Amino acid sequence: MKQIALLFSVFVLAFQNGRPPASLPAPLAYPKNIILLIGDGMGLTQITAGMYANKEQLNLERFPVTGLIKTHSAKNLITDSAAGATAFSCGCKTYNGAIGLTVDKKPCPTILEQAETFGLATGLVTSSSITHATPASFIAHVRDRQYMEDIASFFLQTEIDLFVGGGMRYFTDRRTDQRNLSDELRAKGYVVSDFTLEALRQCTVSTRQPFAWFSALEEPESVVNGRDYLPDAARLATEFLVQRSEKGFFLMIEGAQIDWACHANEGEKTIQEMLDFDAAIGQALRFAEKDGNTLVIVTADHETGGMTLLRGADKASLSIKFTTDYHTASLVPVFAFGPGAEQFGGMYDNTDIYTKMHALLRLPVDEAK
Ligand code: MG
Ligand code: ZN
Repeated sequence: MKQIALLFSVFVLAFQNGRPPASLPAPLAYPKNIILLIGDGMGLTQITAGMYANKEQLNLERFPVTGLIKTHSAKNLITDSAAGATAFSCGCKTYNGAIGLTVDKKPCPTILEQAETFGLATGLVTSSSITHATPASFIAHVRDRQYMEDIASFFLQTEIDLFVGGGMRYFTDRRTDQRNLSDELRAKGYVVSDFTLEALRQCTVSTRQPFAWFSALEEPESVVNGRDYLPDAARLATEFLVQRSEKGFFLMIEGAQIDWACHANEGEKTIQEMLDFDAAIGQALRFAEKDGNTLVIVTADHETGGMTLLRGADKASLSIKFTTDYHTASLVPVFAFGPGAEQFGGMYDNTDIYTKMHALLRLPVDEAK
């Protein structure tokens, strides 16, 4: 057993930057907008469970291109969500816990920051707090994911057009440094709004200002406990961003709590989070089908729970089992729709998601990288 472990770690060291990506033909078309949807902890089994629980129907089935990605981080075969999201946002494998930093702890320019510099509108939508590892990795550069107050302060350093999620407490006078980031955001021209879906609709429909909408002071509820904003937020965010810049937009939408349900080894909760995320995917697809210039990519940072589906009480039912309360090393799927989608077929590294998005948005190559 020890030998097998050693063999694996040698393998990872040798390939920690991934194989060189197989050369792809030039894209058939370039997208103007990219919507990247991340299902935190969403492996094939989570998708399968959601599909059978929903009469064999998922929006994911409407994607013409599928691929697989390797999720390991720089030093671990099993990634955490910070390193997993930094691979997508910056294109580098980093250490577990790192938010927007290279393995040497240097800030790496994120795809969202670069899109913004290039004149695109940008947004982040999540069903966790907005300062949680996955969204944080697109906007902040912090040594450890637990520094939520530091992460919140990075929202003041960008011109992000919208962000939606929980975690309002990190933006209020509850902060240990007495800064009130909500006031600072307002002074910058943001609408800062909270808690009701009607307020979110107002932000996107009647205002032309950038906005922050908070769903909760702390972490948002799970779907089974009444959280329902993610699909609406996905739809409203696309409708808002498309009118914010003629150059296009970059939007990341996260289904954050698939991971949490799997950490807790709760099958029914996992299914409900999966279906909520699939509904958000449906909204992104609907927008992209109508718009024609939008690439939609759905993937996951890693699988959680070592979830498997075994025969249930009778032939027509399934029993959900978990083999761990942490993440696993399994490959996870990628789905793509829209201009450039064909670039996402095959099997490659999670960092290539960044490389492909960067190339498809035709962002300037950063000399420092
Ligand atoms: Mg997450
Ligand atoms: Zn997790």
